[in-house]
Amino acid sequence: VDNVVVVGAGLAGVRTVEALRGRGFGGRITLIGQERHRPYDRPPLSKSVLLGEADSSFVDTDLTALDVAFRPGVGAKALRAGVVETTEGEVGYDGLVIATGSEPIRLPGDGPQHVLRTLDDAHELRAMLVPGARVAIIGAGWIGAEVATAARRAGCAVTVIEAAATPLATAVGTEIGARTQRWYEGIDLRLNTMVRSVDEGGVRLVDGEFVEAHVVVTGIGVRPAVEWLADADIDLHNGVVVDEHLRASLPNTVAVGDCAAWWSRRFRTRLRIEHWDTALNAPEVAAATLLGEDAVYDPVPYFWSEQFGHMVQYAGHHPAGERLIYRGDPEGKWSAVWLAADGALAAVLAVDRPRDLVQGRRIIGAGHRLDAERLVDPEVSLRDC
Ligand code: FAD
Repeated sequence: VDNVVVVGAGLAGVRTVEALRGRGFGGRITLIGQERHRPYDRPPLSKSVLLGEADSSFVDTDLTALDVAFRPGVGAKALRAGVVETTEGEVGYDGLVIATGSEPIRLPGDGPQHVLRTLDDAHELRAMLVPGARVAIIGAGWIGAEVATAARRAGCAVTVIEAAATPLATAVGTEIGARTQRWYEGIDLRLNTMVRSVDEGGVRLVDGEFVEAHVVVTGIGVRPAVEWLADADIDLHNGVVVDEHLRASLPNTVAVGDCAAWWSRRFRTRLRIEHWDTALNAPEVAAATLLGEDAVYDPVPYFWSEQFGHMVQYAGHHPAGERLIYRGDPEGKWSAVWLAADGALAAVLAVDRPRDLVQGRRIIGAGHRLDAERLVDPEVSLRDC
């Protein structure tokens, strides 16, 4: 290949540009991004930026030195072999990187509904988190919990509305989710509650009740941003289907980051991971694949969240686990580990116990088995279990 087009100028897109140049690629690279900003990191948006501790989170990269034609404010509309159709005309390629990430799901209704995906979203929302403001957050997942943290800290009257029986239920299950419920002190947490629509002045619930709010934030999840590929001759199923080399079904095409559903050798299943670490590291493999090298993406997925003063970290893939074992005090620092049927560590979730995370991630990577009896003692480090 000597003319690469990267669609999506988020972390995965820009990291792929860096990886291509790092591997000595000297051809043309065009980076197309529909946002008007240069690439930035999203995790700070619901943390330091929303808390007012930072104004931006631009990725530390030099696009000029990378010799990339960066086209901000340009959206890809469609794809046919060798050509990306954009809002500014056609762009030809002989190597394609799909890195369009994901986009928030919205709820029905005509009322003002905020989501938190972009830097502009974060600035807009931050300006509304003022003392006394009534803020309704729909969804007690990772984003909902972080927005609730910021809103409570800003002195808002916060309601969190969640369809499941506990916070974080979709992400880590209700058993663990229930352990995080105590963090919602001072927040009106409505569980098992379904929203019908976001209306002027608040949120209408399915049972008819109206929850008044000045600000409504919807944090109910994202979907891969692949609509522009709907008519293309490429396999899509929960994102762009790619193999363990991150190669898509279309020739000379790779996909990375939130939009890519890759085959995991380790867990023998297809994974689409909407987390920062994947956007950071998968691009090395995608670039190698595009340049004809033999590289495999087979990470132990990793994720973190900062909520209500706690550092929550997760590594692995818990559906591969059969037994859940807890370590530590549920009121304080604790972790949960999932063991597979053969005793191998499948996943670890650590709350303010970073060593469990680091050691657990290594153990999962090595495929080691653990002794359940020793695990329950939080004083015994994971690597000695
Ligand atoms: P994106 O960051 O979504 O970038 C894709 C880019 O492509 C976007 O700029 C988009 O506008 C653009 N694009 C989309 N469609 C088109 C098109 N048709 N044409 C042109 N451009 C297009 N992960 C963690 O691990 N820990 C965290 O604490 C954490 N916190 C987060 C907090 C927030 C508020 C958000 C939103 C995400 C958070 N994440 C976190 C997730 C992490 O940020 C994402 O996994 C990561 O941004 C994915 O990177 P990406 O480059 O694949 O996609």
